Amino acid sequence: MTRPTNPPGTGARDEGAERARSLEGRRTPLDLSPDDFAEIGHRLVDDVAALLAGMRTRPLATGETPPRIRALLDADQRFPLEGVDASTLVRETTQLLVDHSLYNSHPRFFGYITAPAAPIGILGDFLAAAINPNLGAWTLSPMASEMEAQAVRWMADFVGFPEGGDGILVSGGNVANMLGLWAARAAKGGWAVRTEGMRGADARMLRVYASRGTHTWIQKAADLSGLGSSAIRWIETDDRERMRVAALRTAIEADLAAGDRPFMVVGTGGSVSTGAVDPLPQVRALCDDFDLWMHVDGAYGAFAAAAANAPDDLRGLALADSVALDPHKWLYAPLEAGCTLVRDPNALMAAFSYRPEYYHFDQDEAVNFFERGIQNSRGFRALKVWLQLRQVGRAAYARMVEEDIDLARYFHAIAESRDELEAFGTQLSITTYRYVPKDLVARAGEADVRAYLNELNRSVQTRMERGGEAFVSNAVLGEVYALRMCVVNFRTTTEDVVALADISERLGREADAELRPGALR
Ligand SMILES: *Cc1c(COP(=O)(O)O)cnc(C)c1O
Repeated sequence: MTRPTNPPGTGARDEGAERARSLEGRRTPLDLSPDDFAEIGHRLVDDVAALLAGMRTRPLATGETPPRIRALLDADQRFPLEGVDASTLVRETTQLLVDHSLYNSHPRFFGYITAPAAPIGILGDFLAAAINPNLGAWTLSPMASEMEAQAVRWMADFVGFPEGGDGILVSGGNVANMLGLWAARAAKGGWAVRTEGMRGADARMLRVYASRGTHTWIQKAADLSGLGSSAIRWIETDDRERMRVAALRTAIEADLAAGDRPFMVVGTGGSVSTGAVDPLPQVRALCDDFDLWMHVDGAYGAFAAAAANAPDDLRGLALADSVALDPHKWLYAPLEAGCTLVRDPNALMAAFSYRPEYYHFDQDEAVNFFERGIQNSRGFRALKVWLQLRQVGRAAYARMVEEDIDLARYFHAIAESRDELEAFGTQLSITTYRYVPKDLVARAGEADVRAYLNELNRSVQTRMERGGEAFVSNAVLGEVYALRMCVVNFRTTTEDVVALADISERLGREADAELRPGALR
């Protein structure tokens, strides 16, 4: 057996040993005295408490430009030779961030699918960093690893996923979905993909099926796993952006006839654009017919499976082989926390496990998360999730999600009742709408008016982003540029959605007054 050898002794080594003798009672500039730590930490907690207390009344964003932000940071400064006093540094840095950030924790943040940070989750991240367990291996994180495993089981139970499977926390929805694809490829690829790669002796073109409304994680996953993004078959959707299952069957049959190998169908449980939920029970039936892996992207909507006012189809995620969830969305955990669940308890190990000889870990009795995913060293992101679940409990969590859905529906009703707002649809907690000046309502179908309304609503969105009163994102519905509000926010109230309607109308009138003269006769 050959062993790697250490380099032979040198003069430098002896000098180093000599210097080390002077490190008795070593003190380094990185360490803080217990008193300093306590003083700086207490002040920081007070500052964060004040930030949370003032969240409702502060501007959501400052609208500052990139050059301005870079100037404030002194971004071109090189790594300074000398350090600075920690107390001053933390105070100044807190100020810099507090005054120049965009707050998705603000009750009027309706953009994308981005949630506020739960206060106990903020404390959880602090405590997690203090303990600093490495959740790659159980031995290095005994209590922490068990807390992650329990948080995963609690979430599975909450969304109705069957007991007895496996799961792991990851950085977010993208990676959670990718793990699903890799687990599917290992299980249903049809040859030893993990050792042979995509060019094994029996290799065929692998095919994955997903609706046109699927999030872009799937391109990244197909690309990064060597399938290539052209392996994705985009399935048509209905007028509410839900996958057409008949078209799915046709596509699978065509690929089989051409000699390709279908291996996976991705159902979406809450699309990022409009909140659409695919007919998941029908997707399962088709996967059974063709022996395919069923994955559900529940990054947005999975937790709504526990909500009484969510579509029944969503509860079909319980039928999937794997599900991606995003605690940093509808569980309101501070970024980052995603989660993959698999039905077969061996599916993650079968896709990811290697057992190097330099690890001395109990392989049978305990969970070693490095074997279940792509990370090696892993942080304690589970703590904030565990604390939040434990603090609130199942019933109140379901209620918060239901209330968010109610608020999005209420906004839809408000938009319908206003002369200058046009409501499109509402699914889960997303409502799409736009501003239409009163005198253009009757002409909205004319080509030049259509183009103008798109420009106008783009401008409303930009003005809102800069103004800092509220924040929405957009959805493209056919040829219509729509504004899109999404409520995944335990701070949002009825007043906030009424205010959003008011703000949208006011900014719409302003934008119209400025843009119309040059744009439309
Ligand atoms: C947000 C989202 C993702 C991506 O999740 P990240 O946490 O942003 O990585 C994927 N799919 C859907 C449906 C989403 O809403």
